[in-house]
Amino acid sequence: MEIVKAKVFGFCFGVRRAVEMIETELDNNAPLCTLGAIVHNTHVVEALASKGAKLVQSLDEVPPGGAVAITAHGAGEEVYADIRGRGLRLIDTTCSIVRRAQQTAAALVNDGFFVVLYGEAEHPEVKGILSWTRGQGVATQTSKIDVPPGVKGIAVIAQTTKNPKLFAEFAQQITKEQIGKVPEIRIIDTTCPETGRRYQAARELAQQVDSLIVVGSRSSANTRKLTETCRETGIPTYHIESAAEIEEAWLAGVNRFGVTAGASTPDDVIAEVVLRLRTYEGERTTKEGTEIV
Ligand code: SF4
Repeated sequence: MEIVKAKVFGFCFGVRRAVEMIETELDNNAPLCTLGAIVHNTHVVEALASKGAKLVQSLDEVPPGGAVAITAHGAGEEVYADIRGRGLRLIDTTCSIVRRAQQTAAALVNDGFFVVLYGEAEHPEVKGILSWTRGQGVATQTSKIDVPPGVKGIAVIAQTTKNPKLFAEFAQQITKEQIGKVPEIRIIDTTCPETGRRYQAARELAQQVDSLIVVGSRSSANTRKLTETCRETGIPTYHIESAAEIEEAWLAGVNRFGVTAGASTPDDVIAEVVLRLRTYEGERTTKEGTEIV
């Protein structure tokens, strides 16, 4: 049996940078608190916790004078002000693509626009971006919106992990409904190409294999979407969090097993999965999948 890995999988640059920043801080100044999970992966969170990174949900839990990390998902303007006000040391791991979405939202509001953010209202990244609109925005996944009077127009942006195709459809629908009602409509695609590259690579991988394993936390939205993408191809797909979940029976009749992983899955967890498959089957060939750009 061959094990074929997707060409693009696992940690995106934003998550890798965030984890590396925390590890560097822990090496130099442990301990610290992270405001929310630094990445939606229990292995990473536990590994960082063992080195002194305490997961907190509120700044009230951070000891006076302590250090606190904002995650790659970013945070709202008021969170920065609160950290400053409390005199805490800030480690800001906000991903550059999320930061750009926040800055875009703030600039649009400054320019007189009402921001329509296509995204999951309860997601930490969405809450953070929306905060930068200072009340002049809404997070929604439906095109029915109430636009306040007196604005220059509406500006449609997206949660970074949204599918660009779905965002385009959403923007088209909202344009249809708002044209003639507001003076101007602007559409700015703030989606991140990293997740899309993983979905595309997974589809390509599915064409080469008999069965697929997706590695990643069940709490990770992008890993769940990656699993859905794989299942939509019709290829039998297993979503696992670690190598321990693999059952030997899955290998029966499979000549080529594909392995991919969400943007929050660390390299060592993926390596253990490949090792476990090899152990079950006996050492065979591992080769790279097709390059996707
Ligand atoms: S998926 Fe994109 S936006 Fe999100 S952390 Fe990774 S690189 Fe940044």
